[in-house]
Amino acid sequence: MIIDSHCHAGTGDGLTGPWDTRASLAKYRRRAAAAGITHTVLLAAFHSDYRVANRQVARLVAGRRERFSAFAFVHPLRDRGRVDRLVREAMSLGGFVGIKVHRHDGRITREICEVARAWSLPVLYDVMGEVAAVELLATEYPEVSFIIPHLGSFADDWRAQLSLIDQLVRHPNVYADTAGVRRFDLLEQAVERAGAKKILFGSDGPWLHPGVELAKIRLLRLPIAKQRLILGENLLRLCARIRPTPLPMVAGRGAASEPLMSEQSSDPWSGAQYPCC
Ligand SMILES: [Zn+2]
Repeated sequence: MIIDSHCHAGTGDGLTGPWDTRASLAKYRRRAAAAGITHTVLLAAFHSDYRVANRQVARLVAGRRERFSAFAFVHPLRDRGRVDRLVREAMSLGGFVGIKVHRHDGRITREICEVARAWSLPVLYDVMGEVAAVELLATEYPEVSFIIPHLGSFADDWRAQLSLIDQLVRHPNVYADTAGVRRFDLLEQAVERAGAKKILFGSDGPWLHPGVELAKIRLLRLPIAKQRLILGENLLRLCARIRPTPLPMVAGRGAASEPLMSEQSSDPWSGAQYPCC
């Protein structure tokens, strides 16, 4: 099993670049299969209406749950009711196992963190180099798992990526994905210092080649048990905590603390049991 935890799919409604125009899986599918990737987590392309974009992604996932899963793209709204409705709709479509927020759309909000906490959904938040914000997220929402893509900076900001490694070491609920990280020494350092349990393989396909991105993980030359964490087990562990229905949110205090279900649950692909982290 190899899970690519970060791949875009569907059409955007912009025309700025590939990221808000089109993410076709035609080549990605062939490339991923040739590389041995067995599962892929899909995210929408940038869109002005993520209800529309998430539905597109849901259609791609439908009937292919063994191969695909998805994170629901969410606008950084301050209206908790609207965030809740957006996430609730995505969860009802099936196949959604997390929330994606991009700082390009605006900074992540408390309302999104509270909804993520209520559902026990991991949040993939692209900070675009603004890694100081991770300090606040990690400490304000210790029950929420935050995955920071590109080791904190798709733009290859060495300072940001170095700072994020420190945060991976210090905060148990902060993770990073490897998509598009070019400085191999930093990937190595992240695994050495924070541990393989904090790193997830992602490709940022279809715009980056999944086989090239996967080769970076192979080149870390890790013991097989650590490699398996990065190539799928970490993601499964984070997603195994998802609640089938959210906890009620208490005004001003976020979610109630009583869990509604066991800390162990089915993973979204095989139904196997994975322990909670
Ligand atoms: Zn991406």
